[in-house]
Amino acid sequence: KMADKGVVKWTYTTCGYCSTGCSIEVGSNAEGKAVATRGVGGADVNRGKLCLKGIFEYQVFEAQGRGEQPLLRDAVHEPYRKVGWDAALDKMASEIERIQAAYGRDAFAIVSTGQLLTEEFYTLGKLARGVIGSNNYDGNTTLCMASAVSGYKRSFGSDGPPGCYEDFEHTHCLIAWGSNLPEQHPIIYWRLKEAMEKRKFPLIVVDPRVTMLAQFADIHLPITPGTDVVLQNALIHVILAEGLEDRDYIEANTTGFEELAKEVQNYDPTTASKLCGIDEDTIRTVARLYANAPRAMSIWTMGINQSTHGSDGVVGINNLNLVTGNIGKPGGTSLSITGQCNAMGTREWSSCSGLPGYRVLEKPEEREEIAKFWGIDPEFFPKQRGLAETDIFPAIETGQIKGLWLVATNPMTSMPNTARIRKTLEKLECLVVQDSYADVETTQYAHIYLPAATWAEKEGVFTNTERRVNLTRQVRKPYGDSKSDLQIFNELATRFEQGRKIKFPEQPSEVFEEMKQLSKGRLVDISGMSHELIEEKRGIQWPYSEQQAQQGVEKGNQRLYTETATFRYKDGRAKLIPLPFVNNNEVPDAEYPLWLNSGRLVEHWHTRTKTGKIGNNNKFSPMPFMEMNPDAAAEMNIRHQTYVRVVSRRGDAVVMVMLTQRVPRNMVFIPFHFFDCVNRLTLGLLDPHSRQPAFKQQAVRIEHIDQE
Ligand code: SF4
Repeated sequence: KMADKGVVKWTYTTCGYCSTGCSIEVGSNAEGKAVATRGVGGADVNRGKLCLKGIFEYQVFEAQGRGEQPLLRDAVHEPYRKVGWDAALDKMASEIERIQAAYGRDAFAIVSTGQLLTEEFYTLGKLARGVIGSNNYDGNTTLCMASAVSGYKRSFGSDGPPGCYEDFEHTHCLIAWGSNLPEQHPIIYWRLKEAMEKRKFPLIVVDPRVTMLAQFADIHLPITPGTDVVLQNALIHVILAEGLEDRDYIEANTTGFEELAKEVQNYDPTTASKLCGIDEDTIRTVARLYANAPRAMSIWTMGINQSTHGSDGVVGINNLNLVTGNIGKPGGTSLSITGQCNAMGTREWSSCSGLPGYRVLEKPEEREEIAKFWGIDPEFFPKQRGLAETDIFPAIETGQIKGLWLVATNPMTSMPNTARIRKTLEKLECLVVQDSYADVETTQYAHIYLPAATWAEKEGVFTNTERRVNLTRQVRKPYGDSKSDLQIFNELATRFEQGRKIKFPEQPSEVFEEMKQLSKGRLVDISGMSHELIEEKRGIQWPYSEQQAQQGVEKGNQRLYTETATFRYKDGRAKLIPLPFVNNNEVPDAEYPLWLNSGRLVEHWHTRTKTGKIGNNNKFSPMPFMEMNPDAAAEMNIRHQTYVRVVSRRGDAVVMVMLTQRVPRNMVFIPFHFFDCVNRLTLGLLDPHSRQPAFKQQAVRIEHIDQE
């Protein structure tokens, strides 16, 4: 088949969609055109397999809408004019300087992504923190992983997923909290399924929908939206009441047990059942299964993170694992399944919420260390974190922020309450959109558009969900006149006086060397790695120090904490944290009687900037739809494949109805990939710890279109 396609060369790379981190080879023909993709057989992650998105990923290079040249205009109602890179970057630099001189340094904000290469994140961090000097710099990872980051920090003293995929092969019980692997992370699902077929351990799925993963579960817990913390407290209540906790582990590795034990007394199964909708006996059964398993693990995705209790939900999972002695053991762990291909890279190296290598702005010694390394005055850094992405848009509304640079993110489709986002963007004096595609919806509101190279048109590393650093080699040169994000950052830096004083290496491998220097002795130690070694090993899991490389350690560390765990709090212990539950969600009422839930489809990636143009992805899911329970639909006289208007307190959307038992009677579900659809309705209340918005818990009503 590959011969038919005329493949003359295969280039090793890593998938640029989800955080699974599949190793891919892209086949090019004699003209250098990418014509095929295949999985890499020897790769630990995917063992030769790819999902639908990976199989057709070679088509992203020349998909419709690729940006060829920078575009410029003075006002958003004017047409764009094509310009050269110098004109675009000169204009951008002068606008940044004008806005900062008039309104202060923080009046120009930057929102990045989880899809750049790590070397690019590091360089953007250097530019944002060390040259432009705005404290309002964050990433769209606030929409997906901020709660996981916050929860890990609160429990263990640092971010960083403790476990790995190989844990599936050692566990005896697995709870998936708000995670629909077959659609969101198909290859991780395949790994889990293989492990379950071999060892027959129970799979418990907590999800209000009967998702594809729930259909394979031994026990499905159709929880009331937003009440995971109640269930977690109730499980711990049963475990403690029945003496099933791991006392030795708790005493050796944790603090806060007495406070947690006192709090969970309030969550006996009878009380909890009324709040979370899971019957008492099932709560007891799951608690016993989990606590009695020699090793048990929990995974989670957006069902936990995208909630007003997202950070608490992560801490609740960690509490459960700590009281049962399930952190730092093969098969006994917490494992957040991240979203974007390099969501982890942005957490480790982007400086979005702090400084590179998991350093924080709040610690003077860490500010000084980075300032010295970059050759700038430490006083240039702010002393605490600025606004998160979800707080940047309200700050534009109030006039505190006047300029915004969006790098590979599309808030007109991805943010909650998009009507408000539209009005917000219109208020900006300068909006810069840097993206591989010129037709992303947010470009409508931009003054400057910068065409960026896409996945595998450049070189560098991604970190996957299990801390595995994978390499992407360059398959082909950037499309049209587009440039790699690294090149764009470097060229913009030279337009500022401070930028000319700091070293900005041109080659990704040189940037990687800088990161290695800064990683020595840190939790995120990558000093034993090189691009070549990562390629040879098909990925290496951090931490991986120089000493380990010299000792011949093969592929890094599968687990972050060992059984004699050194958690990152000063006393080396993890914290058990009491989680009182206060329901602050928008809940259904007489006027808006249904829950609205949102999520992903297997065919699409985020706002469809890529998959919306790839025939083999888009033809299976060409348009939005709404899942509705047939009984609820019958009561309202709504038929399958007819159109209805869905209305929330924020706005409305017209969608086609798909009748299915996947959703309960009191809920509808709409995928989030489509423009002008579900995010016209979402509310986006924020988690107080992580600032992540709740996308999955809000109230709507359905109207017949012919009512008008
Ligand atoms: Fe790419 Fe994720 Fe599919 Fe693997 S599972 S091929 S990383 S989209």
